[in-house]
Amino acid sequence: MLERRDFTDSRLAALASKRPLRMLPNAVVLKLGGQSIIDRGAAAVLPLLDVIVAARPGLELIICTGGGTRARHAYQLGLELGLPSGVLARLGASVAKQNARMIQMLLAGSGAVHVTAEQLDQLPAFLGAGQLPILAGMPPYGYWTTPPAVGRIPEFRTDAGTFLLAEVLGARRAILVKDEDGPYTADPKKDPAARPLGHVSTAELRRLDLPDLIVERCLLDLLEGARLVREVTIVNGLEPQQLAAALAGQDAGVRIYG
Ligand code: ADP
Ligand code: MG
Repeated sequence: MLERRDFTDSRLAALASKRPLRMLPNAVVLKLGGQSIIDRGAAAVLPLLDVIVAARPGLELIICTGGGTRARHAYQLGLELGLPSGVLARLGASVAKQNARMIQMLLAGSGAVHVTAEQLDQLPAFLGAGQLPILAGMPPYGYWTTPPAVGRIPEFRTDAGTFLLAEVLGARRAILVKDEDGPYTADPKKDPAARPLGHVSTAELRRLDLPDLIVERCLLDLLEGARLVREVTIVNGLEPQQLAAALAGQDAGVRIYG
């Protein structure tokens, strides 16, 4: 059993190609956008929290938070001061954590608990007890963040962290709540001629080679390489009934699939 093996061993390769276990197959992992939702304050956040509270009975929901404008400000200062990517990632994570704390306090009456990366193995216990785990969406790479090919801003931010959490758990769905109806041909806030693309594959998004996307660009790679979760649903949180429909299992929002 414990004879010498190397990583190119064909028996290991055969085992590694098996589909991994879905640890929490019923879980829905949802991100509340930082800039797109939380930074808009009460007017955008509170109606979504009402939807979440109403949808929660019987649903294994895990909420991640984005960073947003305060994280971008920290990145700008950090860049100006010459700080490396690993430090910027720590700064960004602490802003997402601020947002997680606010959402957790707001939902405290509905059993929300703030869960850190070290407590991740307690997720089943929290869900089993009917609680509502809230996590900062930033993946906990921190100082070990791989510096990006271009520039110094960490590529794996809170869209990536939310998606990777759904993937490792083998969750039923990953939902990103933002402030647009999915991907457009250009950023609709800057280009009035931008057209919505509807459900779209990562291959089509690559072919279009858009200057900006509604999701972190690394999400295209993650969706294509994922073993268990091969799509994300973008929900427009400015229309809270979209989130209500998505949480009810209806075909709401716009899917990006790998
Ligand atoms: P979050 O707050 O979840 O991190 P972001 O603000 O980073 O979300 O990204 C969402 C924003 O991306 C939207 O508000 C939209 O203005 C912008 N965006 C950029 N390019 C596109 C595009 N091609 N289609 C749609 N939205 C886009
Ligand atoms: Mg973002």
